[in-house]
Amino acid sequence: MSLKEYKAKRDFAQTSEPKEGNREPGRRKSQGLVYLIQEHHASRHHYDLRLEAKEDDEMVLKSWAIPKEPPLEEGIKRLAVQTEDHPLSYKDFKGTIPKGTYGAGTVKIWDRGTYLLIERDAAKWLVRIKGRKLKGMYALIKLRSKNPQDKNWLLFKHKENPG
Ligand code: MN
Repeated sequence: MSLKEYKAKRDFAQTSEPKEGNREPGRRKSQGLVYLIQEHHASRHHYDLRLEAKEDDEMVLKSWAIPKEPPLEEGIKRLAVQTEDHPLSYKDFKGTIPKGTYGAGTVKIWDRGTYLLIERDAAKWLVRIKGRKLKGMYALIKLRSKNPQDKNWLLFKHKENPG
């Protein structure tokens, strides 16, 4: 996906969201991959799940918009609509996106931490999240659709032992 779509959607003269910033020279792998959820009071209130991953040779934040509170316990499934990849530096973004621009509204960090990738293919991610609110194994499963444009996934807390 790369960051083309992210950049195309935004006017960086107006928004204080980061334009670049995928290189973090001082960061070590052992610190874990970035996990965070931003709460976004946009025209529709939602939560943005972001997971650091490599895309076209750079690290980005793979992103999903979740209309309801992310599940803290097993047994709750949430729709998670995949959105454009965000630059890694977006992990620190909080503030207000100006009225009349893309994503207008306030953004705050709802949860953050690191995650371990257990399994990933085109239609499934299994991750172990170490956040303050979300802890443990989580699954993201892509919903099948006849329309390749559809980007609907389900997010839920998974049993500790996969398989
Ligand atoms: Mn959002």
